[in-house]
Amino acid sequence: MNDCIFCKIASGEIPCMKVYEDNRTLAFMDIAKDVDGHILVVPKKHFKNVLDCDEETLYAVMKTVKTVSNHLTEQCGYDGVNLLNASDESAGQSVPHLHIHIIPRKRNDGIDAWPRFEGAREDIQTVFEKVKM
Ligand code: 5GP
Ligand code: ZN
Repeated sequence: MNDCIFCKIASGEIPCMKVYEDNRTLAFMDIAKDVDGHILVVPKKHFKNVLDCDEETLYAVMKTVKTVSNHLTEQCGYDGVNLLNASDESAGQSVPHLHIHIIPRKRNDGIDAWPRFEGAREDIQTVFEKVKM
């Protein structure tokens, strides 16, 4: 995609702090400076999000997520990770190129990386009847 910031990062047109790279995927530092070690994993090929991505590419992305996450916990002194993804603007996606956020965690680091939901509005049985496959 001509106008996509993450396509430009993946092609090298825009620089990034590259953490890991393979044929299909790239992991680089998020520029947000919102939490230490915030990393993004993207496919080099453009997909908007999980919903339009083919299974093979999604597998490659998640394999890289695991490789980077294992590196963080085995080599970099972290204990765990939060993995975050927004697929569609309705879910809060701001950059329309598939990406998984990796937030490295240490025990008792005080980071709140879990959304605070305000409580379900619909009856669970009603929703279950709608979503069951
Ligand atoms: P989203 O809200 O789509 O889940 O996350 C988009 C992320 O991309 C944000 O965390 C934002 O900081 C990051 N981001 C946006 N533009 C750039 C950029 O040019 N370079 C890098 N490294 N990260 C970016
Ligand atoms: Zn793109």
